Amino acid sequence: WVAASFTKQQFPLARLSSDSAAPRTPHFDVIVIGGGHAGTEAATAAARCGSRTLLLTHRVDTIGQMSCNPSFGGIGKGHLMREVDALDGLCSRICDQSGVHYKVLNRRKGPAVWGLRAQIDRKLYKQNMQKEILNTPLLTVQEGAVEDLILTEPEPEHTGKCRVSGVVLVDGSTVYAESVILTTGTFLRGMIVIGLEMHPAGRLGDQPSVGLAQTLEKLGFLVGRLKTGTPPRIAKDSINFSILNKQTPDNPSVPFSFTNETVWIKPEDQLPCYLTHTNPRVDEIVLKNLHLNSHVKETTRGPRYCPSIESKVLRFPNRLHQVWLEPEGMDSDLIYPQGLSMTLPAELQEKMITCVRGLEKAKVIQPGYGVQYDYLDPRQITPSLETHLVQRLFFAGQINGTTGYEEAAAQGVIAGINASLRVSRKPPFVVSRTEGYIGVLIDDLTTLGTSEPYRMFTSRVEFRLSLRPDNADIRLTLRGYKDAGCVSQQRYERACWMKSSLEEGISVLKSIEFSSSKWKNLIPEVSISTSRSLPVRALDVLKYEEVDMDSLAKAVPEPLKKYTKCRELAERLKIEATYESVLFHQLQEIKGVQQDEALQLPKDIDYLTIRDVSLSHEVREKLHFSRPQTIGAASRIPGVTPAAIINLLRFVKTTR
Ligand code: FAD
Repeated sequence: WVAASFTKQQFPLARLSSDSAAPRTPHFDVIVIGGGHAGTEAATAAARCGSRTLLLTHRVDTIGQMSCNPSFGGIGKGHLMREVDALDGLCSRICDQSGVHYKVLNRRKGPAVWGLRAQIDRKLYKQNMQKEILNTPLLTVQEGAVEDLILTEPEPEHTGKCRVSGVVLVDGSTVYAESVILTTGTFLRGMIVIGLEMHPAGRLGDQPSVGLAQTLEKLGFLVGRLKTGTPPRIAKDSINFSILNKQTPDNPSVPFSFTNETVWIKPEDQLPCYLTHTNPRVDEIVLKNLHLNSHVKETTRGPRYCPSIESKVLRFPNRLHQVWLEPEGMDSDLIYPQGLSMTLPAELQEKMITCVRGLEKAKVIQPGYGVQYDYLDPRQITPSLETHLVQRLFFAGQINGTTGYEEAAAQGVIAGINASLRVSRKPPFVVSRTEGYIGVLIDDLTTLGTSEPYRMFTSRVEFRLSLRPDNADIRLTLRGYKDAGCVSQQRYERACWMKSSLEEGISVLKSIEFSSSKWKNLIPEVSISTSRSLPVRALDVLKYEEVDMDSLAKAVPEPLKKYTKCRELAERLKIEATYESVLFHQLQEIKGVQQDEALQLPKDIDYLTIRDVSLSHEVREKLHFSRPQTIGAASRIPGVTPAAIINLLRFVKTTR
């Protein structure tokens, strides 16, 4: 493995040869194209699984670049980060080393939907990520632009499908591999837009990927077009913070990673954020200059939940919109105005910014811009993120129509694991909707597709109370170790210890029973509402807001004292107690869904011609396109009727 000694030409690259007997060197197990948030997770996950991996990306100095907002996490996104971490992924650990303001969102709601979030120092994140990537065993990093894919004849068991066996770089050189993962973000035929000007670029300062986009189209992939945008960056010393609402970070900070008890920086040393709002003068500038703004007029879909200020003014006129002024880093002179993504001509951007309270004298250092790019309809990939069309070719990240670093990272880790498992001919590692937010994200993409940039929300998840940030390790670390091999022994042992301690703690809490009047004596601050005659379990007392493991252990030191020694265990027991009764019912529902998921549909079924099952032409086409792997997934495809599902079910049972 390479790493710190990275040089531009790591190994002599072979030339593409028509001679099939020519040596296929250099040869890797897995090639990952793209060093963004999906690519870094994919490459390190494949390497952790034991695959000799090559990360090919345009520039090593942009590995880990945050193209837009200087923050990670949030509602739903924080859950994805905990799950990536549970699979030993990178982004959570790097955020614990690079944040400048940590805050948990949704605190007023239950812990199941708390959103871990942090403002991140861009420079530090990139540095820490590059250090990690360049020191990962089995991972080679190489600069280069991939232009084309090398395809070979199908494997015997998958007749008809071709298989990827390597990549061609822009200089014509070739590298071979058993599996290839594409994580090219917004770069496929990327076009940057400011005002009426458009020019080809993957993001500001980076070339687009045109050749690769053409290759994918020629192979028959269904390609769509999406857009997104980023705000201008403002000089910090030109802002009048003294008149704005200040937001301070949490004390103590909650780390993202299960491996950390704390983050690298004390709360008192963290940086604040500030809140301001737009006003009617901003609306006026937007509306008066629409003719100078081609991005906003484009019919291509942009991110619904992170729209440009122009889209907000058009959709919700006469409203004041929030603008968060976020630090870009500890020693950065820039401020990121979240909520003011815009594509007006550069000279008008400053005019608009200076209408906003606190920004009257603001200096724009870098203008906002939009980007339009190709994405691939994600119904063309399986839940392991391998494409239906080309064997051993995987897609992850924004290329699949998602938006956001966390969504990209979550897909990256799954693609990396599966590309590696494919090399060793092991069964795919699939996370179901009942196991994690990652499962919901991938199931939504592969069964429903998306026509606008997809982002994660807690509301997309059916089993929110079970799929919590606190228990992601119990849900995924054990499987990640046993079924994927992507989790370290140390992390696995810690998760096993936590699981057995929680089970033991819950059963002990269930076994301690007193009358409500006795509890009243033991813990005077809680008034237990129950019939006097019935005994009350310690687990039920722990559900009360005023009670925690410390107060319970003070009341009943033996056997509870030992569960207060580990802070994380004590806090997790409290959360388990909070959800205990509802979880019982949810578990029954989860079992029902898992039964449907266990009913696998035959892989080689030809929905268009099969005669033994009664399906309408429309349903046949939908199944043919999405190729669901289970009855559960088929039932979630829009337009696949309950009657069709029953017929499919009968068919599956008779063919088994
Ligand atoms: P990226 O992080 O884009 O990484 C792609 C990588 O692939 C890059 O390293 C690139 O150099 C490399 N690459 C591409 N093609 C090739 C090739 N042919 N050969 C070799 N290397 C290649 N997200 C939000 O959540 N909200 C927003 O408001 C938002 N706004 C955005 C605005 C802009 C202008 C941009 C560019 C992105 C925005 N994003 C936003 C999206 C966010 O940046 C992405 O979701 C996230 O970075 C996607 O990660 P990724 O790994 O898929 O791709």
